[in-house]
Amino acid sequence: MKPAAFVYEAPESLEEALELLAEHGADAKPLAGGQSLMPLLNMRFAQPTVLVDLNRLRALGSITPQSSHIHVGATARQADFEASSAVRTQIPVAAAAMPYVGHFVTRNRGTVGGSLAHADARGELPLLLAALGGSAVVASRERGERNIRAEELFVTHFTTSLESDELLVSSSWPTETDGWRFAFEEFAQRHGDYALGMVCAGAQIENGKIREARIAVSAVTDHPVCLGEAGELLVDQSPSPELARAAGAMARSAVDPHDDMHASAAYRRNLTGVLVERACSAIFGATR
Ligand code: FAD
Repeated sequence: MKPAAFVYEAPESLEEALELLAEHGADAKPLAGGQSLMPLLNMRFAQPTVLVDLNRLRALGSITPQSSHIHVGATARQADFEASSAVRTQIPVAAAAMPYVGHFVTRNRGTVGGSLAHADARGELPLLLAALGGSAVVASRERGERNIRAEELFVTHFTTSLESDELLVSSSWPTETDGWRFAFEEFAQRHGDYALGMVCAGAQIENGKIREARIAVSAVTDHPVCLGEAGELLVDQSPSPELARAAGAMARSAVDPHDDMHASAAYRRNLTGVLVERACSAIFGATR
């Protein structure tokens, strides 16, 4: 199949891109790495009349370490994010998860902002940003910039809280400091396939006690969900294999997966529990 006819625009500045989105609203679609949008266009699941190519917006491609987070421009390539020394040293969980995002070739073109804006519930980057407590900056010509916490950014399958005239311009990735340790676990039928289950867990551990904890799941939910019960279960406890097992049991009861052709709901529920237990064991083991 080939895309339906569209007008192609290649703005040279963010202002120009925002002007186009303001002028065309929902009829326009930003094009970043094209690794999700191009198949949607070819299969005519998406038929925008205007395509706004972001690939000339060099200023949006940076990856900049700040004091407590890393600022990532929307058009930063996933492969650059994966290879970034700042990401590898300050957010090791993100570097560990990146090889699960598609394939190296897709990561060469795919962007961090595109993955976040695409908001696939099986996407690793949305889950990581939610688990880390990150946020995104979005902009429009009419209302300027606003900051959206990851938990408010992802709404449901392929749906964010961006307005149709808004562009995601950057994302902010908190670093793993102050005793925080994170672990990522995923299971897919083949490497590079979309996940059947996916977990990112983190705990702040001081003097052998868990001060704070976050367990985020996705793929079995319609967007990344931080399990509220994690805090109650883990805080003020000492890391142990029994506590990791209890966290897995909590996760099994907290999710309500669906059946589909890839796996049953029961399989996904159990898988999520296994992945949470593994992630907690990895965190607890790392801090012995
Ligand atoms: P595009 O495809 O260009 O755009 C995606 C959507 O986001 C479009 O709706 C577009 O309009 C919108 N958009 C893009 N940038 C912005 C912006 N700055 N502001 C607002 N809206 C924007 N992804 C995974 O997470 N895990 C996987 O396992 C995985 N496997 C894959 C396997 C294959 C074979 C392929 C081809 C892709 C796979 N992907 C996977 C998807 C890939 O990671 C995409 O790169 C990503 O989902 C979208 O990023 P992109 O830059 O390509 O965005």
